[in-house]
Amino acid sequence: MFNNIGRKIKALAKIQFIVLAIIDFIVGIVILSVNEYLIAAGLSVMLIGPILAWISSWILYGYGQLIENSDKLANNVCETQDQIFKDRTNEEKTTEISAEKIGKCELCGKENVEISDVKIVDNLGTRYRAVCSDCYKNNNAQPVK
Ligand SMILES: [Zn+2]
Repeated sequence: MFNNIGRKIKALAKIQFIVLAIIDFIVGIVILSVNEYLIAAGLSVMLIGPILAWISSWILYGYGQLIENSDKLANNVCETQDQIFKDRTNEEKTTEISAEKIGKCELCGKENVEISDVKIVDNLGTRYRAVCSDCYKNNNAQPVK
């Protein structure tokens, strides 16, 4: 009943224009048929009335358009936020998987720390080690899948 209000307002603006134009047309005919002195007045009501009705419908139509656009915008923002939330949740899961083990770091020798299997590429060559998070950051390490 109150869904798509923007579209309904736009439809109402069109209906209002048509109804007012018809009324102005009929009123114009009535005026010009009273007597010959009122022919010019009747004709101008028939002409100017619909034009004024048309112009005044722009405001209502524009208002409907505004509501429609802001609805679309609000929906887009909600979808984007949902997507960001999903992406974040996925990122957290990946982090949990890569830091799954507790043990001794093979580089600095720290014990009982979270270690990850990594690939380290430097001037000594390519090595595969289980390292702590500090060594991971300091050694240009890449995760091993
Ligand atoms: Zn370490």
